[in-house]
Amino acid sequence: MPKITGKTKLLGVIGDPIEHSLSPVMHNAAIAKLNLDYIYLPFPIKAQDLQNAIAGFAAIGLQGFSITIPHKQAIIPFLSEISDIAQSVGAVNTVWRTETGWSGTNTDVAGFIAPLKAYNWDWSQTTAVILGNGGASRAVVVGCYQLGCKSIHIVGRSWEKLQQFQESWLNSPLPITTNIHPDSELPELISQADLLVNTTPVGMYPHIAESPVNLDIMTRLKETAIVYDLIYTPKPTQFLKYATKQGATGIDGLEMLVQQGAAALEIWLQQTPPADIMRQSLQEYLKGES
Ligand code: NAP
Repeated sequence: MPKITGKTKLLGVIGDPIEHSLSPVMHNAAIAKLNLDYIYLPFPIKAQDLQNAIAGFAAIGLQGFSITIPHKQAIIPFLSEISDIAQSVGAVNTVWRTETGWSGTNTDVAGFIAPLKAYNWDWSQTTAVILGNGGASRAVVVGCYQLGCKSIHIVGRSWEKLQQFQESWLNSPLPITTNIHPDSELPELISQADLLVNTTPVGMYPHIAESPVNLDIMTRLKETAIVYDLIYTPKPTQFLKYATKQGATGIDGLEMLVQQGAAALEIWLQQTPPADIMRQSLQEYLKGES
């Protein structure tokens, strides 16, 4: 049990629902390891209560908080400052206090990139193919832009949503260009992909036999490709099993989860958090859940 004192500083996560959030597990493990007088708590906040909740957080001196569904966009009008990255993604997942109010950013981008940086890879020659055009896909697009990918291709099942997705980057502070493709173009695109990323929930527990790309299409994959699934349960997903069968390198979503959390903690604590302890705490927790 953490030792709570009269001086204990508060951090937390807001969402609705919030019971399934893994953030309290990894953040409190890191705080304990650093022996800091902080605690990180889950706050279930309904959409209609967001403004009151934020005013309350200021009143009780909360140091900062994480944001999950459904508040990642809705929080933006309540912030006095937002980073270019969060503005490009169109969503904020981390907020901290400043003298002028609350500041926000999006650490999913840093979380996505972190495991990719371990590879000695020429990103300027990389064709990135991203499956899905939802919230996580937006962070992945900004990540691919930051890496300097040669081209960024998005595959989706709704042409209308894909068009909206593409147009949304026109308002971005970062000069991001995307190419959009219907599902029918996936077989051709797979053979060109150097980095293939699944941002759809297809294959997530309990639907573990499903994959956003079937084995037949996956046989077209280059064996030099990096294949990244944002899903972290099961481990590995069917998608990653198909990809690694072709000789490709597979990355699952756990490290992104750990590293987006580590990036947030670094903002709040102003020191490097123990990512290994955060990873270990999540692995143990997820083992207990399955
Ligand atoms: P989201 O905003 O709901 O977007 C999901 C996307 O997947 C949408 O483009 C949706 O298409 C598409 N999709 C959903 N079901 C599909 C299906 N059966 N076939 C084809 N496409 C389908 O969700 P999100 O927040 O981006 O999250 C997506 C996934 O990423 C989840 O599994 C989540 O757990 C994971 N994630 C992981 C991390 C991490 O740290 N590892 C972080 C964020 C998210 P439509 O738009 O046509 O509905």
